[in-house]
Amino acid sequence: MAIHWSLERLEALLPPEVYANMEKASCNPAVPIDAGGNYPIIHGETGNMLAGVPYKRGLRVPRSKMRALCGEGIPVQYGKHLNEVEFGSDGEGVTAKFTDGTIVSGTMIVGADGTRSRAREIALGSIEKAATTPFPIWHMNLTVCYGDAEKARYVRSEFPTSFLALSQRSFHAFQSISSMPDGPDHPESWIFHLAMAWRGEARHDLSYEERLAIIKEKAAGLAEPARSSFMWIPEGTQVHKADISYWVTEPWVNHEGRLTLVGDAAHPMPPCTYLRHMLKRDVVLTIISRPGPRLEPLYHRYFPSDKSHPVFPTNKYLMIFRI
Ligand SMILES: Cc1cc2nc3c(=O)[nH]c(=O)nc-3n(C[C@H](O)[C@H](O)[C@H](O)COP(=O)(O)OP(=O)(O)OC[C@H]3O[C@@H](n4cnc5c(N)ncnc54)[C@H](O)[C@@H]3O)c2cc1C
Repeated sequence: MAIHWSLERLEALLPPEVYANMEKASCNPAVPIDAGGNYPIIHGETGNMLAGVPYKRGLRVPRSKMRALCGEGIPVQYGKHLNEVEFGSDGEGVTAKFTDGTIVSGTMIVGADGTRSRAREIALGSIEKAATTPFPIWHMNLTVCYGDAEKARYVRSEFPTSFLALSQRSFHAFQSISSMPDGPDHPESWIFHLAMAWRGEARHDLSYEERLAIIKEKAAGLAEPARSSFMWIPEGTQVHKADISYWVTEPWVNHEGRLTLVGDAAHPMPPCTYLRHMLKRDVVLTIISRPGPRLEPLYHRYFPSDKSHPVFPTNKYLMIFRI
């Protein structure tokens, strides 16, 4: 996952001792956060650079490392699946019920349960209203270890962190270094993240092998290093599909500030917008969903220079003017 624009927001949000370790979570620890650079967009068939999108600071992180970093010191319980939420009739307190039968009570619940959020269904009071709209796209994703030092060095020789190849046959191919389990001196262990996407109604019944065959067929016509990045994927590699969908944010019932939504639960959208915008939207949307006194101080904490009263008629209104 790329983090560029959102870095300063992460810096504001994370405890300093956690943020100080951001570089350790990087896919490519050899490149400092502040190094900056140009994100390479290359022509799929010629391999020529089409554009370098400049950024001053940034890094790519594997989600597993980012999760571990942000979860430091927090007693995270995995495997819990939110099913129902009950609100105390006296206007105080909230109780979350999970599918494993466990129950947790607290002051407020923050639904950060992603694109197909159960918390959103509860906040909207309707599964239909909370439903996302699928985006018509084939989006293949995989991680791969070539298990071969020469191959690993070769595919990142020109673009050490990542590249996006745009094919004139209307698809994109993406490659990035994902992690270096045994360190920079052991390329045979390096893990890469590859993705390929094109517009169309995706089939959901394909096996890993069938997906691999499709992306190799497309990759065969690409220039290096994109071609080899894909053609060298070993048979047996699991090629996953990402279901891309969106939901246009609308006001939800927050039960006197006891329930709110953040992240993709509050505003799922197709790739290219992401976490980097989300962090600001979260603070803003959380506040404008008519939250009552519990959440308003948050807004002023993260936007201290904004002296305006951050209550606007609808989420959409605010999204238009603040993002
Ligand atoms: C292909 C692709 C590439 C992307 N690349 C980037 C990128 O480069 N940079 C970037 O900034 N963003 C990127 N994004 C977007 C980014 O991944 C999301 O915006 C971000 O992960 C949203 O975080 P979140 O915490 O809101 O939701 P998620 O990361 O989806 O996390 C939701 C969590 O809630 C859990 N959950 C779900 N239902 C329940 C339930 N009922 N009860 C309890 N838990 C539940 C899930 O298991 C999951 O752990 C990309 C997205 C896609 C699809």
